[in-house]
Amino acid sequence: MPGRFVTRFAPSPTGLLHLGHVFSALTAWEGAQGAGGDCLLRIEDTDQARARPEYEAAIYEDLAWLGLNWPEPVWRQSERLDIYAAALERLGQMGVTYPCRCTRADIRAALSAPQEGAEHLSPDGAVYPGTCRGRALADCGPGDAIRLDLERALALLGGQTLIWRETGRAHAGTHTVDPDIMRRQIGDVVLGRKDIGAAAYHLSVVVDDAAQGVTHVIRGEDLFEATPIHRLLQALLELPVPVYHHHVLIRDAEGKRLAKRNDACAIRTYREAGRTPEEVKRMMKGEGL
Ligand code: GLU
Repeated sequence: MPGRFVTRFAPSPTGLLHLGHVFSALTAWEGAQGAGGDCLLRIEDTDQARARPEYEAAIYEDLAWLGLNWPEPVWRQSERLDIYAAALERLGQMGVTYPCRCTRADIRAALSAPQEGAEHLSPDGAVYPGTCRGRALADCGPGDAIRLDLERALALLGGQTLIWRETGRAHAGTHTVDPDIMRRQIGDVVLGRKDIGAAAYHLSVVVDDAAQGVTHVIRGEDLFEATPIHRLLQALLELPVPVYHHHVLIRDAEGKRLAKRNDACAIRTYREAGRTPEEVKRMMKGEGL
């Protein structure tokens, strides 16, 4: 018998929620409702430099105003840093991570070398050129990032075929992690920092989706490209694999993706202008779920 459907809405409290978030939240909530399951709310506040308590408060307020509710307690990632540190430690013991002391400028300089191609875009920006690869974890200094050693990770998984199922319209079907695409477009991503116990998004999201029993990850299409990394981490950490659904992104009148700093589309702005939740929902539903 299939288990209960569990999905989540996982905003980062780094700005006010806008129409794009409403679309994401409603897609998740309606998915859960249709399946008789739950939609969890998770606060992804690991970026302590940008996360702000007032934005977190605004998330609860705006979602409640829209008529959405969620099971309590709400998980806040900033309270789970020890769990991510343990996962990072485990990956270290498996020999698939290394410390990296490169600055952004170092990486840019290495990438501008003529032998490097133009194909260096990954979900994290440039594919890391591998300068620190091979450094021992014991040599990890203050300020060092911990990176995944993609080649070692792939070798450890010994040619296993890693698949995931996607139900979002744009990419519906079964997907396979392609090692060559991973090498070309993703590379050695940052997973965290040991000295301050920080976890990067890829690690915390995978750990928490598993810990919360999420069966269906519903999120924006901008994260589709990150899914192979998540699938790889699930394989390494022996975590269950949810079904993924990447939905279309809401765009503004010029076709640009809505950004958090775009307060014109913030739910707060509509609320204060006297719009009703139904009007706000209709505003974004024009795009189709
Ligand atoms: N916290 C991410 C964001 O606000 C979403 C992460 C996810 O759904 O996997 O963009």
